[in-house]
Amino acid sequence: MSIPTRYRRVLDEVAAACEQCGRDPSEVRVVAVSKTVGADGVAEALAGGARDFGENRPDQITEKAAAFPEATWHFIGNIQSRRIPDIVGAASLIHSLGSLRHGQRIDEAAARLGKVQDVLVEVNVSGEESKGGVAPDEAGGLVRELAALPHVRVRGLMTMAPRGDAAADRAAFEGLARLADDIRATLPPDKADAFDELSMGMSEDWPAAVSAGATIVRIGRAIFSDDFE
Ligand SMILES: *Cc1c(COP(=O)(O)O)cnc(C)c1O
Repeated sequence: MSIPTRYRRVLDEVAAACEQCGRDPSEVRVVAVSKTVGADGVAEALAGGARDFGENRPDQITEKAAAFPEATWHFIGNIQSRRIPDIVGAASLIHSLGSLRHGQRIDEAAARLGKVQDVLVEVNVSGEESKGGVAPDEAGGLVRELAALPHVRVRGLMTMAPRGDAAADRAAFEGLARLADDIRATLPPDKADAFDELSMGMSEDWPAAVSAGATIVRIGRAIFSDDFE
């Protein structure tokens, strides 16, 4: 199957899953995670209708965003301070923010570029040490501190499910949705309105994320890999 065919199959499956749980398919954005392919793979996905792309390395998002400015670029990787200006220069949405210090650097970089940077706070719902993000009980405090930065707009939360079974995935996604509701209730009305994104779900676990309320799913292998089934 070609990349456009796989992309459209994912869109169809996401739409069907939305309908099954009573959601409007337009509420869920599919981000095509292109970290394993080059410019040719991105071009194929664009031709197939993809507009949102995710990258986890600063050099890759910089290069690809320059080559394909018509696409919307999402940064989903580990953040290092010294690469923040590059990330802010290329990313429409940063999914993986996990500290106030990085938030302050993003604010400075965004101010220099005359933009307001949309970010998500990454939450480590499962507590696995290998995963990035803040603990659930620290997320609300961080969101409120970030919300005070003039060139940062906190749009919601992101998580990666634990390596486990379907029940653990579901629990993680439902936990993130509840946490987002709790945090939203503590924000002033204008900040609460903007705090409306839940980035959760990947190739293997997105159906559980969609039924738990994901507004963004991050799909790599199911779109770009020949041997994903
Ligand atoms: C690679 C990656 C994805 C996509 O994973 P697939 O299993 O290939 O769909 C999603 N989110 C993050 C943070 C990733 O690094």
